[in-house]
Amino acid sequence: PYDLTGKRVWVAGHRGMVGAALVRRLGSESVAEIITAGRDQVDLTRQDQVESWLGKTKPDAIIVAAAKVGGILANDTYPADFLYENLMIEANIIKAAADLGTEKMLFLGSSCIYPKFAEQPIKEESLLTGSLEATNEWYAIAKIAGIKLCQAYRKQYGHDFISGMPTNLYGPYDNFDLKSSHVLPALIRKADAAKTNDDDALEVWGTGTPKREFLYVEDLADACIFLLKNYSGYDHVNIGYGDDVTIRELAETVQRVVGFEGELRFDTSKPDGTPRKLMSSERLRSMGWTPTTDLETGIRQAYDWYLDNAAD
Ligand code: GDP
Repeated sequence: PYDLTGKRVWVAGHRGMVGAALVRRLGSESVAEIITAGRDQVDLTRQDQVESWLGKTKPDAIIVAAAKVGGILANDTYPADFLYENLMIEANIIKAAADLGTEKMLFLGSSCIYPKFAEQPIKEESLLTGSLEATNEWYAIAKIAGIKLCQAYRKQYGHDFISGMPTNLYGPYDNFDLKSSHVLPALIRKADAAKTNDDDALEVWGTGTPKREFLYVEDLADACIFLLKNYSGYDHVNIGYGDDVTIRELAETVQRVVGFEGELRFDTSKPDGTPRKLMSSERLRSMGWTPTTDLETGIRQAYDWYLDNAAD
């Protein structure tokens, strides 16, 4: 296992939901330093900036939580930005880290790397066995390239670079902007507004029938530290919750947590996206890790954070 004691760990993307959770989680490890850099200090899409900044800070380990992320509409609207920025961020970091001889790196992707009609629950082996979902293929292609970069640097140069593929995440510091957010923060915000405004209905995109799996971001951070310490292999590892719900069930749970008593109204002019994407997390489970936050508890915590930090 990789011992984090006394190590200097760079969390790339610490201002995002995942990076912020990683910084909080690393706080309970005996690391020497948690290194972070804002966009004003280093633009991760610029190779010269990444090289000079990494050359100066020389972390022992890196977690790549920096990415341009967004929900179904944002992905579909800004394909060039999603493909280009994510390719650049990961290529710059992975190459510079390899040149510096960084001891350990965890690259994070997403469940959308898998084929649209992959067999469920989706095993790691499903990668590149079929066509991607059109609404987020740009982001997916970039993330697949990131996995392959880690594998290539391991294969050619022997670097201990690993990849973790989280399912849909939610929690503190999520993006609650309705035009670019994922479904869960969007529903929290819309349900809260509907309750406040005494509306008669909560608008939900699509048919409500697609199924999604959701993992609380603090569980994800814990899984990342677990992998950093205990996994050193060529294959990427799924990080899931282990169960999924329909969008309708999700909306009902959010309604219950928020306390909005009106009805759900489905806007079928909006896309459904992939019908289902439940991951198989057997590989991670068999190593000895399981999540601890159930969906309703997690939504309650995310809603509390929203009320304290981001509510309209
Ligand atoms: P996906 O998992 O990549 O498809 O991304 P999303 O989290 O954005 O969407 C998941 C599902 O939730 C899709 O079927 C959406 O149509 C549906 N959905 C329902 N209401 C909303 C909403 O207000 N915002 C978003 N982003 N998705 C919604």
